[in-house]
Amino acid sequence: SLNEKIDIIKKHIKVYPDFPKRGVLFRDIFSVLLEPEIFQILKDVIVEIAKDIKRKNDYNCVVGLDARGFILGPLLALELNLPFVPIRKVGKLPGDTYQIKYQLEYGEAICEIQKDSIKPGSKVLIVDDLLATGGTLEAARQLVLLSGSSVVACFIIMELADLAGRNKVQAPVESILQF
Ligand code: AMP
Repeated sequence: SLNEKIDIIKKHIKVYPDFPKRGVLFRDIFSVLLEPEIFQILKDVIVEIAKDIKRKNDYNCVVGLDARGFILGPLLALELNLPFVPIRKVGKLPGDTYQIKYQLEYGEAICEIQKDSIKPGSKVLIVDDLLATGGTLEAARQLVLLSGSSVVACFIIMELADLAGRNKVQAPVESILQF
């Protein structure tokens, strides 16, 4: 069943205390990819849930966030026969870009999207591995708006529910695992 598959995924997410800095409990989605059978289960689960989301909030474009949204996003996009568009940290994308500056826990960051990447008027699903404070996801949502499109939903594997990051994001958020 879906719940059994989600339990298996949860067991395979390796947890690292104090990474990348003291006090952070880092949850590593890459550990799920080490065993093909487990990666396949992750793929099956995200495809099933992404199709559910699509029935509620129809989308026609998948946007993935640097860097672990690049594992999940293209899998979904190919399965659903939709375009995949990356949002990256500043300085990585060629050509004209839109940029947005956002707050991190300490300091600021800038992320970018290529101007000619999302077809204007698209209805977008944003994908990433983990939702913490929600700053990254909300910045991504604003880049989609700058591109002339709208975010119909966000899809996250892991949600740190105590941080209430979903309240910062002005779009519906679906997560598979809550911590
Ligand atoms: P935030 O903007 O605070 O929601 O942070 C979300 C981004 O930081 C995501 O792209 C995550 O990949 C990464 N991140 C934040 N906290 C963690 C954590 N505890 N474990 C793994 N990744 C994290």
